[in-house]
Amino acid sequence: MDIVREYRCPHDGKLLFKGILIDSIIEIKCKQCHEIIVFQGAPQASLLCAKAHCPHRVHC
Ligand SMILES: [Zn+2]
Repeated sequence: MDIVREYRCPHDGKLLFKGILIDSIIEIKCKQCHEIIVFQGAPQASLLCAKAHCPHRVHC
């Protein structure tokens, strides 16, 4: 399963980076409109929940 997300500028839709953020905060400057965008990662517990067969998951 591909869980890598695309993170895009909310102003012009430019793709800024791809990745997985877990309990993280990223600041990145859009090279197109020069706005600084802040992305917040998903809480670790919610990602664990998404892994259907992970033995370490804590929810449902
Ligand atoms: Zn932009």
